[in-house]
Amino acid sequence: MRMRTVGSTPATPGGVARRRLPAPAWLLLALTLVTAIPAHAERWICPDCPSEVVERARGAELVCPGCGTHYTVTEMAPPVAYINVSTRDTEISWFPLADSCRIYRPDGVEGLDDQGAIWVPWTAVEWYIPRMRLLRMINGRELATDYAKDLTYCPSPPKFAYEVTDSLTFPGKPATVFKQQGEYSLAELFIIAFTPEARDSARVRFVKEVEAGKHPRLPRTEPHVMRLPTVAAPPSVAKADLKAEAVVEVRVHESRGIIGAHMVKSTGVAALDSDAMRLAQTVSFSTAGELGVMVPSWVEVHVHYEGTGGRVEVTPARHGFWRR
Ligand SMILES: [Zn+2]
Repeated sequence: MRMRTVGSTPATPGGVARRRLPAPAWLLLALTLVTAIPAHAERWICPDCPSEVVERARGAELVCPGCGTHYTVTEMAPPVAYINVSTRDTEISWFPLADSCRIYRPDGVEGLDDQGAIWVPWTAVEWYIPRMRLLRMINGRELATDYAKDLTYCPSPPKFAYEVTDSLTFPGKPATVFKQQGEYSLAELFIIAFTPEARDSARVRFVKEVEAGKHPRLPRTEPHVMRLPTVAAPPSVAKADLKAEAVVEVRVHESRGIIGAHMVKSTGVAALDSDAMRLAQTVSFSTAGELGVMVPSWVEVHVHYEGTGGRVEVTPARHGFWRR
């Protein structure tokens, strides 16, 4: 391609071109040498027939001998990605990535098979869970990947701006939503998928892997209690033989503290229930973690009334981190 361009340029200025046409031998030799250097071929998956492995030079068109399709770099990047950020779903524009990382390119992601690196076009990715180094292709085949943030691979992976929505839900008040904007690198996103359905199936896989203990270096961490309130039954209902328990489920946001509370076990006494609800919201927590990333979580605050005093206990909520 380049050779033809160089050769045709001098043809434009008429007579001058004729004199230049017999290119000097050294120039022809130089051009021959340049074009004779074999471009380093990589192994790529065809976006249309993902069982086909295609030899392709970096950045060149992908030409599949199986289906005959030609793909350019930009044709292998979908316009929208359906992602999960710290357990919350959202979607982003899949901007062309900077071409500066060993694992991620504008056109694909590097997987690993028994022969080494194999590049998968983004359009052939069903879902990708960077923190688990797990990539599933649209034909169901799964590949391992390297961990992007490893210093030798991709110390600063491309970043995406995101917006996620949470809600404030307290008893007696209308639920209100709030949005949170941020920026995460591709390596920190929990799930990358290109349809909402694929994201849903990746979520099932994500939770299953964590709960099977397959990622022991980054275990799930429940929020720690930083401060517990003292319990004293309201004077109107306090008596020496009082014994009652209220359980309040509380949502702990990763940066805002408690953003929701609801009663899951009543004492049967309205004055105790409303006191327990108030106390539960004064417990202070550190943030929960899932695969090393801060996430919102649910906990159960047990308020025990015993005589005129009592105590507070906190246990993980049974529904887990991924329930909204
Ligand atoms: Zn093909």
